[in-house]
Amino acid sequence: MEQHLRYNPFVNYFTEHYGCRLQKVVVNAGFTCPNRDGSLGTGGCTYCDNDAFHPNYSTPDKSIGRQIDEGIEFHKVRYHKAQQYIAYFQPFSNTYAPLCKLKEIYAQALAHPDIRGIVIGTRPDCVDNEKLDWLQELSEHGKIVIIEYGIESVYNKTLERIHRGHNFETAVKAIEETARRGITQCGHFIFGLPGETAREMEASVQIINGLPLTALKFHQLQIIKGTRMEKEFAKAIAEGKVSTLTQAQCQEAYQAQRQAIQQYHQQPDFITFTLEEYIDFIAKFIARLRPDFYIDRFAGEVPPRFVNETPWGLIRYQELRTMLEKRMEKLDLTQGCSI
Ligand code: SF4
Repeated sequence: MEQHLRYNPFVNYFTEHYGCRLQKVVVNAGFTCPNRDGSLGTGGCTYCDNDAFHPNYSTPDKSIGRQIDEGIEFHKVRYHKAQQYIAYFQPFSNTYAPLCKLKEIYAQALAHPDIRGIVIGTRPDCVDNEKLDWLQELSEHGKIVIIEYGIESVYNKTLERIHRGHNFETAVKAIEETARRGITQCGHFIFGLPGETAREMEASVQIINGLPLTALKFHQLQIIKGTRMEKEFAKAIAEGKVSTLTQAQCQEAYQAQRQAIQQYHQQPDFITFTLEEYIDFIAKFIARLRPDFYIDRFAGEVPPRFVNETPWGLIRYQELRTMLEKRMEKLDLTQGCSI
């Protein structure tokens, strides 16, 4: 059944197109990523610890079939509403192998009797025409195929700062090639990356609105233990270069008024969000977002053991959804109403 919210949730994509709810079951097929294996770099993106982003049942020492079986059991207990399942190749870059290898890996998931299709998380520089052509064929032959691109920011200065190893133009090219083939695709973005101003975060909506994506995922930046970002964040705190969104907005407004005075106030290196600020920010962001986009996620949920601090407490995504709905209702906002 469709969910009627003030934004367009991704669950509606499945009910509208396939007539049922589909639950993603995470699969770890043992891929790596060019930003880790030395092709582009070895340290990875500065915020990355992939262990923090996928569940315990998905480890590459188990066969894909077994991971799917265990994932389905896990979800049956947690989410009673799911009717059918889709294999979610999530950790690392799941198109980073020759096509013949990809076919072999995806086939193992598609052979499972409860699996209707695949979601493939990857980097925009890890697809090419040959892979996209084959994924188009697969989707035209009745399998659900969704590509999820890690885009993270629309600004090249941010992508450089976080050592992504690709620029925004590469992401745009991959998205356009994917759209040209009619393949469903989702773009992943992070708010609060270092060096990005409040205005830049807000303005990114206009650029995102111009992309031929089907769905979107947004995360607030979470500082994961042991990452390079953790060190950068600690340094920024020590230097007084961390501001909450509200503080940053005030500083930026003041700076704009005092443009003649150079170096008036240092731009914070990191902008963090209190829970209330983020809900307010995302409510207004969604109000400026194209109404046809499906929203798969609007906040991240890294397990507490991976982070030093849980600034929002142990709040679950379901509670965040309720807060967002209430906030949008209070402000009388719906997706796209402020375009
Ligand atoms: S591209 Fe993905 S897997 Fe690779 S380092 Fe960056 S976040 Fe990690």
